[in-house]
Amino acid sequence: MRDVRMRGFAERADVEDVDRRLRGLTRPLPPESVPVLECAGRVLAEDVSARVSVPGFRRAAMDGYAVRAEETSGASERSPVRLPIVGEAYPGRPFPRGIGPGEAVRIMTGSPVPDGADAVVMAEVCEEQQGEVAVREAIAVHRNVGEIGEDIREGEVVLQRGRRLRPQDVGVLASIGCASLYCVRRPRVQLVITGDELLPPGSVPEGYRIVDSNSVLLRALVARDGGVLLPFELLPDQPEIIRAALEEEGADLVLVSGGSSVGREDHAPRLVAELGSLDFHGVNLRPAGPAGGGRVGDRLVFLLPGNPVSCLCAYEFFAGPSLRALGGRSREWPHRRARRELAREIGSQAGRTDYVRVAIRDGRVVPIATSGSSILSSTVRATGAVIVPQELESIPEGAEVEVLLYDEDATPLEPEV
Ligand code: AMP
Ligand code: MG
Repeated sequence: MRDVRMRGFAERADVEDVDRRLRGLTRPLPPESVPVLECAGRVLAEDVSARVSVPGFRRAAMDGYAVRAEETSGASERSPVRLPIVGEAYPGRPFPRGIGPGEAVRIMTGSPVPDGADAVVMAEVCEEQQGEVAVREAIAVHRNVGEIGEDIREGEVVLQRGRRLRPQDVGVLASIGCASLYCVRRPRVQLVITGDELLPPGSVPEGYRIVDSNSVLLRALVARDGGVLLPFELLPDQPEIIRAALEEEGADLVLVSGGSSVGREDHAPRLVAELGSLDFHGVNLRPAGPAGGGRVGDRLVFLLPGNPVSCLCAYEFFAGPSLRALGGRSREWPHRRARRELAREIGSQAGRTDYVRVAIRDGRVVPIATSGSSILSSTVRATGAVIVPQELESIPEGAEVEVLLYDEDATPLEPEV
């Protein structure tokens, strides 16, 4: 392989081609059994069918009186129907027998409805006097009685594989008696953070030494995308040390930050090529042009440029979708989106994809940074990003564009002043 160090890229790959290749390399990891208490947010690897019905008994949906509906016919305010109360039913403590003709049972929401009763009159239309209930309204059969299987029917497929489990999903799974479920194993991610100039996060930058912010950024992105970070250390720009890190087993995906471009100290691309295969290096993308990727053993390796915005951008375009796909999630951008009019033209270059940081002001999209891959604060000031596809040379003022929003929740798009 041609050594690109201090020479630059002869040929850059297109974002779409890289994406297509990565698509073919990333299949969901094998399933693992996960306790239901830990399943929220996980991706289900099996279809789950209910082995029981919910509810499994006829259940009172109201506090009131269990009766035979036909016996209330004609009941009204003026001429209530009076029935003797023969006992009580509580959730988990049923009335011990069925009811006979002319009987009523005081019953609470969630209690089993006694055999013989076919409706629950709600307490609001009744009055109790001397062991009797006066029912002031006729009630129809089945009223306020939750039938067996009304919520979930035994044998029904409740959730399908591939589902990213919501809080209510795990609630339902627990309600049908699941103790654990097969979920797609979460991808394990190794960070290889290189740079002689780096101080660990938590340090104060001093002199010409800077704080490793990339690992902090990447840790959050990996968590967002469902990966599990393995322990790591900051590494100096020494080929033997980087080689050892790349040779380490146990991860599904390796993120190399720094030392990935064409400088003298950029050893990672050559090492990946030596230890496995370097599938791409240099992309028609701004920022993150020097991004690369390949495979070592059964690990996917991504070379992320050290410049923080490039690091973010390279992660978002290549590593993120791959990580999500390994975890059984969608490769699509996970961001919420907003469509707005562009306040100012965005210049690009035909043949290159651009990741433009934008703000939304007065309802319009204002580009705030197209270049400046070292200016991480541009992404802090931005509301989100607009992607200028490869084939466009620019997007004109007034065009409607889609903004990938940085906030995950429904934070207002424009700060209130
Ligand atoms: P490199 O990709 O190693 O050539 O680094 C490009 C630029 O990114 C240089 O200014 C580095 O100091 C900076 N840089 C490299 N690694 C990190 C990191 N982990 N955190 C923040 N900046 C970094
Ligand atoms: Mg470096």
